[in-house]
Amino acid sequence: MSKVHTKNRIRRNLILHALLERRELSLSDLARETGISLPMVSQIVASEKGGKYIRTREEHELDRAGRPPILARLNGDAGFVVGIDMGHLNTNIIVLNLAQEVVAERHVPSARLGNDPGLIDWLERQVGAVVSQEKLRMDRLLGVGISLPGIVRGREGVSESYMNFDGKPVRDILHERFEKPVHVEHDAKAMALGERWFGAAKNVSHALCLNVGWGLGLGIIVEGRLLYGRDGYAGEFGHVEAVPDGRLCYCGRRGCLETVASGRAIAELARERLESGAVSRLTSTVKNRLEKIDTQLVVEAALAGDQFSIELLDEVGRHLGTGVSTLINLFNPEVVVVGGRVAGAGQAILNPIRTGALQQSHVKLGRDVKFVISRLGAKAGALGVAMLAARDLFEVDHLNPSAYV
Ligand SMILES: [Zn+2]
Repeated sequence: MSKVHTKNRIRRNLILHALLERRELSLSDLARETGISLPMVSQIVASEKGGKYIRTREEHELDRAGRPPILARLNGDAGFVVGIDMGHLNTNIIVLNLAQEVVAERHVPSARLGNDPGLIDWLERQVGAVVSQEKLRMDRLLGVGISLPGIVRGREGVSESYMNFDGKPVRDILHERFEKPVHVEHDAKAMALGERWFGAAKNVSHALCLNVGWGLGLGIIVEGRLLYGRDGYAGEFGHVEAVPDGRLCYCGRRGCLETVASGRAIAELARERLESGAVSRLTSTVKNRLEKIDTQLVVEAALAGDQFSIELLDEVGRHLGTGVSTLINLFNPEVVVVGGRVAGAGQAILNPIRTGALQQSHVKLGRDVKFVISRLGAKAGALGVAMLAARDLFEVDHLNPSAYV
């Protein structure tokens, strides 16, 4: 490829990338965002106008020169990406067009997560179902993103814990199946990216996104970017020590925060205490079969005013808050977003988290932090990986754009 061609492709991708992030921009804002000169931006947008990706319109109000400014955005009809958030219990699939509009979604109980190659067939069926549900054309599919729990090395497309087929990256296997580029991401990071693009962390430079589901995940946003660390493992908050010599964690160590502050901990603690005679409406809800108690039931009981469940969530929330106080001291966030299944408890979990966090964090740092429940709920992860798949279409990160603008 010639150097001129490469330069033009990079400039075009920088523009498409900026439009994907910001939805609609005037040409002068595009020039400012990308560092490309205004005449060059105008030229590229004009040459792309009849093409697939860019649409323009004129602003009603005139600019200082008395001309209507031209606004550019991505063409929603250019195609779509699919985001799949596959958890232990539920799988959420969202179809997003390039104008960042959700055009279809599907929420189904998960197939059992493991290393069975049949999972690829299952995923293909689910994606086929959501695409045909809205009568979308499969040839309009541009890319796929998938988020998984466990140990994930997104950059290499590898999931070590699940869908690990003899070490072959799950990204490559799915790529062969869908015949489109695939982006693999860790569940807590996918959720944080969903919040960053669509939710409570939007337009926020510093945020902590907690995923309190079956386990406890964390996505850390610093200077507007998600923190990955060397191998992509940054944010393993669930496995910091919270209780010296405490309960055994599945990671093999004792007293991890996740053993006292996660959906799994809530269910376990509820069962144990009810077995030892504590009183709660949960006992009759499950008709004395205490092994049936899960996180969701405790959350629902708390919302219905069950004192036992309210106190349990309070205790778990405070543990979590103590952990969060350390993060506040380290990262000085503007906002702490609480998502995942347990976030369904609303203020019953948010208040103790806030109280626990403010008791322990540096007064100055804690005072102005906003604590919010995710509005996106279970959709955050699927939205996050859908956007990752969209971003890959116009990727420039592996190049050195500054040399070309
Ligand atoms: Zn652990």
